[in-house]
Amino acid sequence: MLEPVGVCVDCGKTVYCDGGFLGGVILEDHTLRCSDCHHERKETISESTT
Ligand SMILES: [Zn+2]
Repeated sequence: MLEPVGVCVDCGKTVYCDGGFLGGVILEDHTLRCSDCHHERKETISESTT
């Protein structure tokens, strides 16, 4: 079930939560970014999810 969570700060696309899986990331300042933009900017985010 898709539930709209908010709007991507970068592209303005609605980000959904799909059955508990968020289709994006919530940033430290509580803004929302879709997975597409997140992947493009991944190198700018210090993250260790591997
Ligand atoms: Zn986006």
